[in-house]
Amino acid sequence: MANQYLDIDTLKFLLYEVHDLQKVLVQSRFKDYDQESIELFLNAVKEFSDREMFPFFREMDEQPAHFKDGEIVVHPQVLKYMKKGGEMGLVSSLFDYEIGGMQLPGMVVTASAYIQETANNHLPGYLGLTLGAAELIVKFANKEINDKFIAKMLSGEWGGTMCLTEPQAGSSLSDIVTSAEPVADGFKISGQKIFISGGDYQGVENVVHLVLARIKGAPAGTKGISLFVVPKKRWAANGELTSNDVTTFADFQKMGQKGYCTTHLFFGHHEDCRGWLVGEPNLGLKYMFMMMNGARIAVGRGAAAITMAAYQASLSYAKERPQGRRLTNTGRKDVEQEQTLIINHPDVKRMLLFQKVVAEGSLSLILLSSKYHDLSHTHSDPDERERYSQLLEVLTPIAKTYPSELGLLSVSNGVQVLGGYGFCSDYILQQYFRDIRIFSIYEGTTGIQSLDLLGRKMSMNNGKALLLLLAEIRKSIKEASEYNDLMPYVEKLGAALKLTQEVLQFLMEFAKKGEYERFLSDATVFMEFFGNIVVGWLWLDIAANAQKALASGSTEYSSAFYNSKIHAMKFYYKYEIPKTRALAEVLMDKQALTMTEEDELFG
Ligand SMILES: Cc1cc2nc3c(=O)[nH]c(=O)nc-3n(C[C@H](O)[C@H](O)[C@H](O)COP(=O)(O)OP(=O)(O)OC[C@H]3O[C@@H](n4cnc5c(N)ncnc54)[C@H](O)[C@@H]3O)c2cc1C
Repeated sequence: MANQYLDIDTLKFLLYEVHDLQKVLVQSRFKDYDQESIELFLNAVKEFSDREMFPFFREMDEQPAHFKDGEIVVHPQVLKYMKKGGEMGLVSSLFDYEIGGMQLPGMVVTASAYIQETANNHLPGYLGLTLGAAELIVKFANKEINDKFIAKMLSGEWGGTMCLTEPQAGSSLSDIVTSAEPVADGFKISGQKIFISGGDYQGVENVVHLVLARIKGAPAGTKGISLFVVPKKRWAANGELTSNDVTTFADFQKMGQKGYCTTHLFFGHHEDCRGWLVGEPNLGLKYMFMMMNGARIAVGRGAAAITMAAYQASLSYAKERPQGRRLTNTGRKDVEQEQTLIINHPDVKRMLLFQKVVAEGSLSLILLSSKYHDLSHTHSDPDERERYSQLLEVLTPIAKTYPSELGLLSVSNGVQVLGGYGFCSDYILQQYFRDIRIFSIYEGTTGIQSLDLLGRKMSMNNGKALLLLLAEIRKSIKEASEYNDLMPYVEKLGAALKLTQEVLQFLMEFAKKGEYERFLSDATVFMEFFGNIVVGWLWLDIAANAQKALASGSTEYSSAFYNSKIHAMKFYYKYEIPKTRALAEVLMDKQALTMTEEDELFG
């Protein structure tokens, strides 16, 4: 298997030139860093990924995590990754210096996690969820809880999880029933959680679960959900770690990401499970959602990474596989001529270019979201912080969904590039195809993200958040207009924005009339429509930056590199943007065919 899973030049071009990391580095929180120190860190992560992650990628699929004798057996590399990754600062990277963190910008942590995920998407979740759980504790829990758990989590010695889902409460978290009863030494927790990633595994000393549960007597629905820290092991009176009655009941065997264990946990099977409240009672879902925005971008990032790795694998294959002859008049039937490489067939180039525009467009979307996240927390001007925060809110459901949904199609094209071999286990494409399938499901399905985008984000703050995003898009349009060659695409993007206004006007009429089910019935179609346009914006921006570099005679990358970005943008505008017109037609069709009662549809 070729050791080429990432296009590091494209990552750096997007990070430094297109999304201008420098704008984040000038914020006082990051004053100790410059591009050189960031490069050193990212190069170390790449070297770590080459050595400790990529070589185990296939093995982790072939030897899935599994439940045996009451424990989850994982690939031995999981514990090594936790330990070495912890030592490298992969969990502590985001946190403040005072608690042992590295205080790196989120954009850099995103780039670091992306590199790891391109190498082996079965491993980063173990540290990533630990980071997420630690973030919740640091932000909202009291000092005592912080003192007990944070150091061990940041060092990678203890794992962390997010325990939301229950058998009857998946998308609908208001239906959570796990309970918490106040007792002298905390809360007695009882209930079960399913599908918990990294929930437990052989050899890990402790796992710190962040659990959503209801305090007895709390209001029904989302207003009665609290957040608890519930470790697998708690401290006995003598200070030793002892069981906290968290039982691993089973695991889930899956079609992909098989090395990343997914567990079914029981809390309080023997009525002896203790949890400690994080923050205020009944605000648990609010706290969790603050973290879930980050987690959603992380899911989009993982999908973007798999898309990139699959693109690299199919590109390498296409450059080596001879098959058939060029479609030229003389050549195509001449068996005396040598076969050509499949990369020379226009249809194969089309598939590869589709993979490229989705892979790089998704990466651009993820880096931009991280930049908004950084500036919403660290910008010196509070008005700017608020502006970036709103931009991030609108972009988050798209950043989760576009890479997951289009990434799946992109990897499917990658399988197709390999023909029959794409379907066979000897080649890695089939593994990427299986691995990426989960990304549009966990952390809120595409359906749920789409309801959020159309139902909440489009009208958030009386539509102000959307206006801020449109202003950013118009800024890019203005910059791109400086280059004559880009004018046709500037016009196409302008037309797509006009179409967005028409679609929203049409749909909002239903909301105004109180017809909410009709308003939201095609939310997922709207997601596809608007996600396509947002990534079209990002491609125009990439092309404008490439033009700028070419015009200035920049030698940072080759002119072929910059020209390939402009070419990819043109591909996006020829093959992807026109789809928005068909989607707009669907969205503005007066018929509501999916609202007909069930027996008339499937009767
Ligand atoms: C491998 C894996 C790892 C996971 N890791 C974790 C984890 O670490 N922690 C955790 O808490 N959970 C985890 N989950 C759970 C995951 O977040 C849920 O599976 C997901 O939120 C969907 O819930 P569900 O499976 O119950 O599906 P359902 O909620 O039953 O949804 C089924 C279908 O109905 C649609 N649907 C549901 N409600 C609506 C609605 N109101 N409007 C429109 N459509 C709707 C959905 O979009 C979906 O297509 C994991 C799941 C998997 C498979």
